[in-house]
Amino acid sequence: MADNIALVTGASSGIGRATAELLAQNGYYVFALARRMHRLEQIRSSHIEPICLDVTDDEAVRHAVARIISTRGRIDVLVNNAGICQPGAVECVPLETAHRQLEVNLFGYARFMQAVLPHMREQRSGCIINIVSALSRISVPGFGWYSASKYAIEALTDAVRGEVMEFGIKVVLIAPGLIKTEFVPNQLRAMERIPHPAAYEKLLAGVHNLVAREPEAPGPEIIAKAVLSAVKVSRSPVRHALPLDSKMSV
Ligand code: NDP
Repeated sequence: MADNIALVTGASSGIGRATAELLAQNGYYVFALARRMHRLEQIRSSHIEPICLDVTDDEAVRHAVARIISTRGRIDVLVNNAGICQPGAVECVPLETAHRQLEVNLFGYARFMQAVLPHMREQRSGCIINIVSALSRISVPGFGWYSASKYAIEALTDAVRGEVMEFGIKVVLIAPGLIKTEFVPNQLRAMERIPHPAAYEKLLAGVHNLVAREPEAPGPEIIAKAVLSAVKVSRSPVRHALPLDSKMSV
């Protein structure tokens, strides 16, 4: 049974992929999770094992965690990162689409926390890192449903941190600003799929202006480094190395 077992969701691209690779380079055996198996296969190595899964699938999440525990015996780090963004006016985004936004970004993270916490409690150690967003606490026009999902996971995370601190488990929020990944092109495509009346022309232009800064944004490696720093701090023997409101804005 190896020590230092990490699980990274959304590892087929962007921040998740960079994080899986950096943790593997730093002594972790990493389970890399996402739906696009062909993309995960590109990072398979002696330290990275892909698992194909949709974070909205309860059974698949339970099964993946059980498999990791049965083969490796423990989970030291969970990086909840898999996310989507559905921009558009709150009025225009169909509720079914809004449900999907929350299902992935809120319940996807919650599902993994519920699945790993019994094992981390038993180990009396572990670190959970939830990737949120600069748009978690600032809600701007055109990103209401995305912000709602990230606000909600921040609230849940702050509660969990206090609940599990006494078991030696650290819980950290990392809130990236704009990062150059597939995320922004994907969100523009998602917005174009939502019909908006002409009256919302200014709002749509605002979303385009905000994301037009993406080419100048830093790459996902900066967030991977923040994750690694948080993991290292969380392993410090100091009992309350991370304060109650531990949140890193990057
Ligand atoms: P990417 O689009 O590059 O990565 C998103 C990842 O999430 C992919 O690996 C995708 O894998 C996975 N994913 C999406 N839906 C599901 C699902 N239902 N089940 C399993 N995996 C899923 O974006 P980023 O790397 O930029 O984003 C990662 C996180 O960072 C997100 O939570 C995002 O909200 C956050 N963030 C990003 C910012 C940015 O500017 N890029 C800014 C602030 C926060 P697959 O499609 O293969 O399943």
